[in-house]
Amino acid sequence: MKVLKFGGTSVGSAQRMKDVAKLITGERNIVVLSAMSGTTNSLVEISDYLYKKNPDGANEVINKLAQKYYGHIEELYSTDEYKQKAKELIKHHFDHIRTFTKDLFTLFEEKVVLAQGELISTGMMNLYLNECGVNSVLIPALDYMRTDKNAEPDPVYIKEKLIKLLDEHKDADLFITQGYICRNAYGEIDNLQRGGSDYSASLIGAAIGAEEIQIWTDIDGMHNNDPRVVEKTSPVRHLHFEEAAELAYFGAKILHPTCILPAKLNNIPVRLLNTMQPEAPGTMISNMTEKGKIKAVAAKDNITSIKIKSGRMLLATGFLRKVFEIFENYQTPIDMVTTSEVGVSVTIDNRKHLDEIVDDLKKYGTVSVDENMVIVCVVGDLEWDNVGFEARIVQALKDVPVRMISYGGSNYNVSLLVKASDKTRALQALSDHLFNNKA
Ligand code: ADP
Ligand code: ASP
Ligand code: MG
Repeated sequence: MKVLKFGGTSVGSAQRMKDVAKLITGERNIVVLSAMSGTTNSLVEISDYLYKKNPDGANEVINKLAQKYYGHIEELYSTDEYKQKAKELIKHHFDHIRTFTKDLFTLFEEKVVLAQGELISTGMMNLYLNECGVNSVLIPALDYMRTDKNAEPDPVYIKEKLIKLLDEHKDADLFITQGYICRNAYGEIDNLQRGGSDYSASLIGAAIGAEEIQIWTDIDGMHNNDPRVVEKTSPVRHLHFEEAAELAYFGAKILHPTCILPAKLNNIPVRLLNTMQPEAPGTMISNMTEKGKIKAVAAKDNITSIKIKSGRMLLATGFLRKVFEIFENYQTPIDMVTTSEVGVSVTIDNRKHLDEIVDDLKKYGTVSVDENMVIVCVVGDLEWDNVGFEARIVQALKDVPVRMISYGGSNYNVSLLVKASDKTRALQALSDHLFNNKA
């Protein structure tokens, strides 16, 4: 059995839904769907109005969104019977959203509102397949996808519940389920964070021991650089799990950063495929490495670097511990670290407690902060005995000021910190030198 996940653009219109239906019929797989593109953003906007106690603003967005869905229904279904069923489905979910315009609005209600996008898209797809004569069965994610008290998915619960649900439908041709949404440890509706449908797919894949997890999106696989920023990027055919995880963590939006771990732990290959071009080979992610090859570049925005310089650091045991403890006290993860005899530089992307952190660090040395920075991450099989890759990276960036360089934490990446204003030319220069044979 395979798990096939389709993102928002892949189900973004009636025509796209019809195209997806063709791709998913024929094999008894589990299909995970996101909300139709733009929907989750609209639900966030509705919630924002409700937090601000502006029900009129919320209703305006709700009505516009509902109208869009009624339009999709006319286009998607051909019989009156299914048009009617789909209208009832849409009405049910929008009536539910409207109930929140009348009362107190908290984080709890917001999670319920945000869940409606995936509930609608999967309901619509399931009805469409049924209209086409396919015996597809809707498996509600809220009945098996669950996080624990630490807000981490609970794999034992997920496996037990999901397998039971699948066993109840032995005659099903195909299963449809929602990405992104789940229940938390208290049984309340929750989600796996924005973009989290990829995570749903890999958790499901791990739970059923899938033969493969396919992430279908609007591009032909992982490109060797960010196609939104750089000219002439091309798809990478193979990635190791670690390489894919580094790229996802450092900004390659095609994959949610959490998606790789469950697949890697269970050694399930992940394939990235293009819904608009289904015959393209896409990217295969597995435990295979390609010796000595630089694969791709990604960039993570909104980074702040903090340098602590201390004359007393020389030979001082415990200095790094004290520095790291301050970040831990403020629940602020560190991304990059570089050290010298007299100081240490770190980067963070969560600035919530920056002032307190800087204040506390001043006990141990002179502190300076650089904001609006970007981590550029070069990924591949970069084991230290593969000579020359550092030279190629540094040569590519010879005209770009680099604030920090980090290598050796893993065999898979070199990270460099540059100013946000230098991001585009840094990424372009790396593509030109590493992949496009420009001197
Ligand atoms: P979905 O809605 O299917 O989850 P996303 O928008 O989350 O799709 O991810 C696909 C997008 O990721 C692409 O359209 C592309 O613009 C962007 N992207 C960023 N970096 C990369 C990369 N290195 N390779 C491929 N796509 C990338
Ligand atoms: N619909 C959710 C979002 O837009 C989850 C996802 O698409 O992965 O973030
Ligand atoms: Mg996505």
